Amino acid sequence: MAERAFRKIKVNQNGFVRIVCPDCSNEQITYSRISSEVHCLICGALLAKPTGGILSTISETVEEVR
Ligand SMILES: [Zn+2]
Repeated sequence: MAERAFRKIKVNQNGFVRIVCPDCSNEQITYSRISSEVHCLICGALLAKPTGGILSTISETVEEVR
């Protein structure tokens, strides 16, 4: 699998974000402050990982969920 760039999300407050798996387009909601890696529930791809306590993700779409 090609290496993908992880981008740190911008969140001003604790909350949940919706991210999209680039492999299978599965939408997934995860917490913005995570302590472990987040994998796609459908295909198992690594979608996000913690960077200094804040989510970094390969998802091109990051939406805050209220
Ligand atoms: Zn997937």
